[in-house]
Amino acid sequence: MTNNHFDVIVVGVGAMGSAACWELARRGVRVLGLEQFDIPHTRGSSHGYSRVTRTAYYEHSDYVPLLQRSHILWSELEAESAEKILHMVGGLYLGPLDGELVGGSLRSAREHGLAHELLDRAAVSKRFPQFTVPDDWSGLLEPQAGFLLPELAISAFVNCALHRGAEIHGHEEVKAWHADASGVTVTTALRTYRADKLIFSGGAWSNSLIHDLGVPLTVTRQVLGWVWPKTPAAFKAGTLPVWMIDRLDGTTYYGFPMVTQSPGLKVAVHAPLDRTDPNHVERGILPGDEETFRSCLRRFIPQGDGPLLALRTCLYTNSPDGHFILDRHPRHERVVLAAGFSGHGFKFASVIGELLADLACTGQTRQPIGFLGLERFRKG
Ligand SMILES: Cc1cc2nc3c(=O)[nH]c(=O)nc-3n(C[C@H](O)[C@H](O)[C@H](O)COP(=O)(O)OP(=O)(O)OC[C@H]3O[C@@H](n4cnc5c(N)ncnc54)[C@H](O)[C@@H]3O)c2cc1C
Repeated sequence: MTNNHFDVIVVGVGAMGSAACWELARRGVRVLGLEQFDIPHTRGSSHGYSRVTRTAYYEHSDYVPLLQRSHILWSELEAESAEKILHMVGGLYLGPLDGELVGGSLRSAREHGLAHELLDRAAVSKRFPQFTVPDDWSGLLEPQAGFLLPELAISAFVNCALHRGAEIHGHEEVKAWHADASGVTVTTALRTYRADKLIFSGGAWSNSLIHDLGVPLTVTRQVLGWVWPKTPAAFKAGTLPVWMIDRLDGTTYYGFPMVTQSPGLKVAVHAPLDRTDPNHVERGILPGDEETFRSCLRRFIPQGDGPLLALRTCLYTNSPDGHFILDRHPRHERVVLAAGFSGHGFKFASVIGELLADLACTGQTRQPIGFLGLERFRKG
């Protein structure tokens, strides 16, 4: 380290922070990334071997161009790191045609001209006999979907950033920060740094870093499970796409084909579970954890309902409306915020890195991110 002054300091080197470090380093910006734990680690939101990516996003139309850009950037990261991080194995969404998952994804695919195939119940059963769904359900098959390897992605972002001259420190918790007219001061347990700009990408710890926004972020303890299916060949990569099932109450089950990076078949529920505090969360297994996904296997994937191999906990950081928060700090123009990824942010990490770099370097971006701004909470 030559001195303690940087162009940009990134607080939190998880999914979003590592991507921002890479993007800033690609632009020749002098960047320092500070992470309180190991890089990567298993105490935040970005572990568990796999993350779904999709394109026909039912959650909001403006996510689609961001996803298309994210897939390009994931490929650029793969090229630079020489690692295979994004596996486009397709996605299958199951539920009623007028439900949020299938109906909303279909609307998104049509609106954006995305490749897709609508399957009736008979076609679902013929092509994907792994699933047992009600007679009046449909399936939407999307080729521009698949999975990412999160731990490898973060390592690749960090390695590529470091090779390009970024400075990144693990085990250096940010304790305090201060912004003034000439720059920002960041104090860690080890030393004090100055920078022109500051990016907060603290995940589940965002509330303790930025407590003056008046936007409550709730952290929830999520459960992931891995089982050994009764008919393993039916669940191999190449046979099964990533999949999501509409539980018809605003939550979905989802899972992955079996991959060599993790044991057995991974399945989980996508909905905020029990509220927690990131510093006091129960990371061991609690009664009821297995049932969060076991009910899905019993009801919809009976051949997958085999012995348990692993259980893990992970943290969602939920914004009040389930959409991300990506904006400049309303009172400190040198400070940029990325928070509240609400259980669906990983697939966007590559493009969030680019957006954070845009906001930190120029104060604006050409991408459509108005719907992710803080203004929406003031209006509402
Ligand atoms: C069980 C589960 C399944 C999910 N599945 C999917 C999926 O299939 N597809 C998808 O797109 N998304 C999914 N997500 C969501 C996605 O993983 C998250 O949105 C994303 O990982 C959030 O990234 P982040 O950078 O905000 O948080 P993190 O990756 O947790 O990074 C935040 C970092 O900031 C650090 N930090 C905080 N405070 C400080 C400080 N004071 N000093 C230094 N460092 C600090 C933390 O230690 C942490 O490393 C899932 C999430 C979970 C929990």
